[in-house]
Amino acid sequence: MEKETDRSGIFEPKLDYAPNEMFPCFADVLKIENNHQHGRHVVAKEDIDVGKTVMVDQSYFAETFNLKYRRCGIFFREVENLKPCNKCTFTMFCPRCEGNSFHDIECDVNPTYFGCLSFASFRMVIIRSILLAMNAFDDIDQLIAAVEEILSSDAVEAPESLSDPQSKYRAFFKLQPNSKENVDEKLPQKIYLIYRLLIGQSKVSKIFHSEASKRFLMHLFGHHVIVIKNWIRSDRYKTGRKGLFNEDIEVYYEHRISITASYFNHSCSPNAYITAQNGLNIAVVLRPVRKNEQLCVTYDEQILMKPKTERQRDLQSKFKFQCKCDRCKQPQLESSTLNSNLRIKLDPIFQSIFESRSVHDYQTFLSLKANAFGLLKKYKKVAWSAEVYRIIYSLYTLALMETETATAGSMPFTGHIFNITFD
Ligand SMILES: [Zn+2]
Ligand SMILES: [Zn+2]
Ligand SMILES: [Zn+2]
Repeated sequence: MEKETDRSGIFEPKLDYAPNEMFPCFADVLKIENNHQHGRHVVAKEDIDVGKTVMVDQSYFAETFNLKYRRCGIFFREVENLKPCNKCTFTMFCPRCEGNSFHDIECDVNPTYFGCLSFASFRMVIIRSILLAMNAFDDIDQLIAAVEEILSSDAVEAPESLSDPQSKYRAFFKLQPNSKENVDEKLPQKIYLIYRLLIGQSKVSKIFHSEASKRFLMHLFGHHVIVIKNWIRSDRYKTGRKGLFNEDIEVYYEHRISITASYFNHSCSPNAYITAQNGLNIAVVLRPVRKNEQLCVTYDEQILMKPKTERQRDLQSKFKFQCKCDRCKQPQLESSTLNSNLRIKLDPIFQSIFESRSVHDYQTFLSLKANAFGLLKKYKKVAWSAEVYRIIYSLYTLALMETETATAGSMPFTGHIFNITFD
């Protein structure tokens, strides 16, 4: 992955190809397809080499409670020259977002952050999703007409574009839940509470003034919640403190939805991986991808080294689907991924990666990552082996470390989130 750094030392990932015109977050070597077998999925338009960055997607929205003083509250990116909102001092703006109309409404809701943190996060995420819907259309009638049309169209259509707010909203709306399980009994109550909070704002009640439009808003909440509950991804870090029951206290620092990241299917022999950093979702190719081949990631890196029965059991219980990926279907692929490749195993670079267990500085981190990608490139003709898996797994670990270093590690209030007092 090519990276450039600006004065503030924030790394900016870049696509390794020109962006796609309709899907600017995608390199123009990818397309989204849609069929019965795979649903919406991502396919290569041409051969793609190992190490290529093929997606850099700004999260559709995110909630970064712990990072709110370091990131722009509109784009969730860490940038220079942040200024707090004059009114709530709860949201920071970068120069280009100052006075953003979203925040007019959020501002009045923000100070009610007190209380259960996870519910507060959930609340902000739902409200932001509704504001994105409202902002995408000129008026409420247009929004209602658009939602009616979306509901009557093919539920699993592939998006035609993601280059403007309306098509992004349509694509968000169309993200299908992969299961109807895990229904939270208190959900209707929570939805109603958030709905009341939003409709209680005079700016909102002026827009949704008729009974019919209020009913519409309530339904919209319900739909958004289903999509969000299914597709939200979260990063958390351990505070190092123990809770009442001696459990590790963990703190979320980002909840996010990336529309395009949601289109990648799972495979137990993934040829790409997605990492999240600084409000961006980045996809990089791990194994050579042929033209017309699907790009797959793993939904759970923990399962990669497990045999088929365990993987299938884990995927079923966590993600409610029966995996039918190539590795699960082809016994020879399964055995090669569990077998050792002596050439890689004896490669000094491979050994050096797994000798250096702890990473204390950014330079070491970067060289480990470069070595891992170097090996994946060098041995790209090796179909699969236990070593290839270990290298891929090490990249997941490094990605997690990178996120933590870039966020939690240098946070001014690490571990003390619950002690912060607000003005
Ligand atoms: Zn901004
Ligand atoms: Zn404010
Ligand atoms: Zn599988």
